[in-house]
Amino acid sequence: AAAAAAARSRPNILVTGTPGTGKTTFSTALSEATNFRHINIGDLVKEKNLHDGWDDKFDCYIINEDLVCDELENMMEEGGNIVDYHGCDFFPERWFDRVVVLQTENSVLFDRLSRRGYTGSKLSNNIECEIFQVLLEEARESYPEDIVVALKNDTVDEMNANIATLSDWISSWSPMLS
Ligand code: ADP
Ligand code: MN
Repeated sequence: AAAAAAARSRPNILVTGTPGTGKTTFSTALSEATNFRHINIGDLVKEKNLHDGWDDKFDCYIINEDLVCDELENMMEEGGNIVDYHGCDFFPERWFDRVVVLQTENSVLFDRLSRRGYTGSKLSNNIECEIFQVLLEEARESYPEDIVVALKNDTVDEMNANIATLSDWISSWSPMLS
């Protein structure tokens, strides 16, 4: 449903996508270009203990979504945030003005995740996640379709083009138009 015009003076951007698609690299560069705050949810969960322990099967923390959302609420109200996470369905819809889904070609993603040390089912699950566009689907189900953008992010040139696109979008954003 259409929300009232955002009270924030700067927009919030969610950067999502399969692990390895370049969210953290992209968010760091976009943050440097714009002075927006980069919030890496994985790091925040670790630092502030916003989890319910370690998941041995999936080799990651069991994120406590309520604690994460409580932690972020004030910052999100202020605006000027780039939120970096491989999931997007548990954040309040009203927080975001743009949802960027980064996408990477399979063989490129395979190499990136192998270099990260992923093997076996951990590697193949992530490749499948990308093939089936799980994050794009999740973003489209969770946010209005006109704020969701899928961006190809195979090369550094593509990343730089994506940063330019988002920087331009930020410059022209106005709370009146949201
Ligand atoms: P994520 O945060 O989505 O898991 P990272 O930003 O950690 O992804 O990037 C995964 C790996 O891919 C890193 O080694 C990074 O240097 C590399 N990488 C990220 N974006 C690009 C890109 N656009 N072109 C080439 N390599 C990239
Ligand atoms: Mn990351």
